[in-house]
Amino acid sequence: MDRWNWVMVRAFGPAAVALLVAMLTMAILSHWQATPLLAELMVVGRWIPLLALVASLWLLLAPIYRLWQWQRGKGPNCPRCDGPLGYERAGYASRGGAYRRCYACGDNVNHRHYE
Ligand SMILES: [Zn+2]
Repeated sequence: MDRWNWVMVRAFGPAAVALLVAMLTMAILSHWQATPLLAELMVVGRWIPLLALVASLWLLLAPIYRLWQWQRGKGPNCPRCDGPLGYERAGYASRGGAYRRCYACGDNVNHRHYE
């Protein structure tokens, strides 16, 4: 795969996984309705696909916004390959603290390099 295919996989892969979870839980819950014993669990279980759909929507829109900002030159770029960076993750203080992962090369970039 070339560089931009990896950008798409790293940016939108979590949204695809959340969407898959929503579809699988919907399929499982549709079978639960037929069983009277499991039908009571539907009260709680019916929220799982909705939460997964909301999560997948967020995981789709947030990378779109980050890529759009990066394309306009306002988002943080990777110092190694100049690619777009993902969301900020809390890192260990002993390893330099917060960091972002590059969508293009997969490198972890410490917050000192993009702030
Ligand atoms: Zn990079």
